Amino acid sequence: MDKLCKKIEFYKKLLPPDGLLVAVSKTRPVETLRRAYNCGQRDFGENKVQELREKQPLLPGDIRWHMIGHLQRNKVKYIAPYVWLIHSVDNEKLLREIDKQAEKHNRVIPFLFQIKIAEEETKFGLTEEAYSELLEKYRAGLFPHTLLKGLMGMATNTPDIRKVDKEFAYLKRQFDVLRKQVPTAEFLSMGMTHDYEIALRNGANIIRIGTGIFGARKK
Ligand SMILES: *Cc1c(COP(=O)(O)O)cnc(C)c1O
Repeated sequence: MDKLCKKIEFYKKLLPPDGLLVAVSKTRPVETLRRAYNCGQRDFGENKVQELREKQPLLPGDIRWHMIGHLQRNKVKYIAPYVWLIHSVDNEKLLREIDKQAEKHNRVIPFLFQIKIAEEETKFGLTEEAYSELLEKYRAGLFPHTLLKGLMGMATNTPDIRKVDKEFAYLKRQFDVLRKQVPTAEFLSMGMTHDYEIALRNGANIIRIGTGIFGARKK
């Protein structure tokens, strides 16, 4: 068996039954994605619209494309026809644009709210207050062409396991609250190559793995 397939299997086995492995394919050439596809991998994550736009037409139509990176409003239109799940909704204007583009394409676009759980200034995400305001608007029906599927978060990049653990545990509590209010919220997307074990321990059912599957990125 292809080594790549073995790595994919390794991660899939760790997931709960309702879990998804997102193979983070940013910076990888299309041939590499095709190899993973041939192992049965169908969920791929990209963090740049431009790269997603280039790869999507070259690969099979049953791939489920996950937008995991910071998303600019003016680029939503390019991915609106096919994106399977947007993990990174972190402001109202962005959600409004997703709703608008989804309507244009006659579809409903599934998304996650990205919650700020890390301390670093560089990490995007909704603050607790902004999240609760936006959730209220969503629940009031302001974005009818979108579907809230759950929450995403990135922990602080630190060797301090207890800190990462606390941040993921916080997001899990938010997720449990959300699930009671919004029945379609089924995904908790947290954990990447260096912290997926802590994420899974805290109830993640989507992990986003790049390096662990494909090796170190060049840049
Ligand atoms: C790159 C990236 C990942 C995967 O990172 P690895 O360390 O390569 O597993 C996960 N989530 C997001 C949002 C990313 O940008």
